Amino acid sequence: MSEFGGNNASVVSIYGQALAPETFDPTPEVRALWEKVYNSMREEFGEAIFRSWLKPMALQACYHGTLEVSVPTRFMKDWISTHYVERIRQMCKEAGEGIERLEIVVVHGHAAEENNEVEAPKVLKSNVNEMAEKMDLSSPLDPRFKFETFVVGKSNALAHAAASRVVECNVPFNPLFIYGGVGLGKTHLMHAIAWELKEKQPEKVVMYLSAEKFMYQFVKAIRAQDTMTFKEVFRSVDVLMIDDIQFIAGKDSTQEEFFHTFNALVDQNKQIIIAADRAPSELQGIDERLRSRMSWGLVADIHSSTYDLRLGILRTRAVQLGVEVPEPVLEFLALKVTSNIRELEGALNRIVAHADVTKSEITLESTQDVLQDLLRSSDRRITIDEIQRRVAEHYNVRIADMHSSRRARSVARPRQVAMYLAKQLTARSLPEIGRKFGGRDHTTVMHAVKKVDELIAEDASFAQDVEVLRRTLTG
Ligand code: ADP
Ligand code: MG
Repeated sequence: MSEFGGNNASVVSIYGQALAPETFDPTPEVRALWEKVYNSMREEFGEAIFRSWLKPMALQACYHGTLEVSVPTRFMKDWISTHYVERIRQMCKEAGEGIERLEIVVVHGHAAEENNEVEAPKVLKSNVNEMAEKMDLSSPLDPRFKFETFVVGKSNALAHAAASRVVECNVPFNPLFIYGGVGLGKTHLMHAIAWELKEKQPEKVVMYLSAEKFMYQFVKAIRAQDTMTFKEVFRSVDVLMIDDIQFIAGKDSTQEEFFHTFNALVDQNKQIIIAADRAPSELQGIDERLRSRMSWGLVADIHSSTYDLRLGILRTRAVQLGVEVPEPVLEFLALKVTSNIRELEGALNRIVAHADVTKSEITLESTQDVLQDLLRSSDRRITIDEIQRRVAEHYNVRIADMHSSRRARSVARPRQVAMYLAKQLTARSLPEIGRKFGGRDHTTVMHAVKKVDELIAEDASFAQDVEVLRRTLTG
C-alpha cells in the first residue's frame, strides 16, 4: 500500500498525486456495505460513543481490499484507532465485499465539519484521563511533594490549612488561590493536594499543569484545528490546578480560553486551584474580569519563611536523605540561608554530598567551607554600626535610640529589627550584639530575633520592610 502513503495518507495527497480519484471511488456495493456497518456501529458501541467519535466517519475510497474512511481531526483518528478500529474492521470484513483493511485518514474541511455536524467528543469520565494523557495535558507530580513532607509554620499555615480543606471537603471555596514568592512551597502544596486526592478520591479526575503548558497545548490545539477536544477535556475534570498563573499575563487568547474554562468549571461546581507569585490584584496584564474572578474564593498567601520553619524543613530533609546532620549545622543553615527554601535545601544537599564524596563528617567548619560562595554574599563584613544607621534612617528614628532604653514601640520595633539583622548578617554572638545595643542582655536580643521572625510571618508589609533593609545592607 506504499503508493498511498501508508497510514498517515491524507485524502488530499492521494487525490493530488499519481492516481485519479475515480480509481478508488467506492462502488454502489461498497457504499451499501459501509452504510450497513455505519448503522451497526451505533448499536455495537452505544449512542454516546457513536455520537462522540464515530458519527463523523465518512467513506472516502475503496481499493485492493482496503476501505478508506475519513474523520475531521487527528485526535479523533488516534482515538478511533486505539479504541474501535479493530472491531470496525471486523464488522466490515463480516459484511463481505472482500474488505480486509480499514484506513482512517484526516481530512480538514471534512464534510461533517462543514455541515456543522461534528460534535465535540463527549468526554466520558472513564476516558478523560486517557485523553489528557494522549494529548499530554497534565504535568507529572513530584513524588517528594506530599503533605507528609510539608513542614507547617506560621508563614504557610493558612495556605496549608486551605489545601487540607480542599482535600477533605467538596469544593469548600472556589477557586483556591495560593500565592507567594519563589521557592516558598506553592508547587509543593499543589502536588500534595493532587497526590492526596488521587489516593483518597480516586474517582475524581484531577488535572495539574503549569499555565505555561496550558498555553502551549492550547496553541497546539489551535494549530491542529482541534480546540474542540481541548475545551472538552478541560471542562470535564473534577479538579483543575494551574500553577504559576502569572505566566499568562499579556497572553490574551490564552487568558480568554482559561476564563471560559474557569467559568464552565465553576458553574459545574468543580474545584479550581491556582498558584501565582503574587496576589490576584497584583497580576499585571491579566484581564480585569479574570482577576476579580480569581479572588472570589479563598486567597491564601505564603510569607517569607521564619527561622523555626527553616529549621523544621532542614530536619525533615535530613531524615529524608537518611543522614545525621549535627543540630548546630542545621541551625547555622537556618540562620544564614534565608532567601528561599529551594536554596536552603540546595545548601543542605551540597553539604551532604560533600561529606559523602570526601567520606568525612559533617561539621560546622566543613559546612562553612563548602558553602563559602553562598555565605559570602550574606557575610560581607557588615558592621552593627552600619545596620543601626540604616535601620534608623529607614524608620526615621535617631541612631541614639538604638542604644537608648526608651520602650515606645516607635523606637523599640526598629531596634528589634536592627538586632535581628545584626544576628543574621554578622558573625557576632548574642551577648556581643546586646552590648552594642546599649549594653542589653543576650536574652533581649534573642527575644527580638524571635519577635521579628513572628512579625515577618504575620505581616507581609513588615516582612517586605525587613527584606528591603537586608538587601540594601548586603547588596
Ligand atoms: P514555589 O512553587 O513556591 O516556587 P516549591 O514548591 O517548588 O516553591 O518549593 C521549593 C522547594 O522547597 C521544594 O523542594 C519544596 O519541597 C521545598 N519546600 C518549600 N516549602 C516547604 C515546606 N513548608 N516544607 C517542606 N519543604 C518545603
Ligand atoms: Mg512553583
